[in-house]
Amino acid sequence: MRDYGIVIKRIERLGLADTEIRLLGQSGGYAVFGVRLSRDPSLPTVFVNGGTHGDEPAGVEAALAFLERGPGPWLDYFQFEVIPCLCPHGYSYDTRLNHQGVDVNWAFLQPNVPEVAIIRRFIDERKFHAIVDFHEDWESPGFYLYEQYREMEPVGRPVADRVSAVCRLNTEPVIEGQAAENGVIHPSLELEVRRKGEGIPIVLFRQGYTDHLVTLETPSTLDLHVRVSAHLAGLEAIIAAHIDARRPQSASLAAG
Ligand SMILES: [Zn+2]
Repeated sequence: MRDYGIVIKRIERLGLADTEIRLLGQSGGYAVFGVRLSRDPSLPTVFVNGGTHGDEPAGVEAALAFLERGPGPWLDYFQFEVIPCLCPHGYSYDTRLNHQGVDVNWAFLQPNVPEVAIIRRFIDERKFHAIVDFHEDWESPGFYLYEQYREMEPVGRPVADRVSAVCRLNTEPVIEGQAAENGVIHPSLELEVRRKGEGIPIVLFRQGYTDHLVTLETPSTLDLHVRVSAHLAGLEAIIAAHIDARRPQSASLAAG
């Protein structure tokens, strides 16, 4: 059994300036926390999520590592909302499902799922500049990502290229039933819903809570530190791309 108490201690220990720790709710007897990093409440918000699937601990580790390292100069461009571990029961028991036996990620329409209720409250009437969701894949030989985007150029390719410096990519032409190009999937949402149900990442994008949602999938067979490095490299590349897009000089270049 994994010790969720250590996760809570690491969150409580953050205690940095610009950091606010919030209790988002309870699930299966565990407290679920969110951490807000903000220097300027008028800036757009990036939402980073980990631990939706309890048997994918690299995402929890990566979210904690991101918080512990701190976003530094990124706070001049964005605020961050981080949920390091959405499903503490799954994390504690190393299982994909919550205490009710529900796959939280694909249960958005199911009533009485506490993790879904937490997400619904958390996103209510908000719009996120980007959402980065950390996952793992037990069967994948390498890293890959799903990117959903609108009204922007996709950045999946440069993000995967950046990750390839720390973790090999899954180069299969079809991954999880979706066409893939060197580790990058721009998924057919219809297909996702048909195969898995109305998932949290689908709803967040389709209902307009964000115009850019990237799901990072690291291969569980590789060492934890490699998976964590891959998640962090992916997150860093996504944020860097959004900072580039917001810089006035790149806007004028694009206009010219
Ligand atoms: Zn997952």
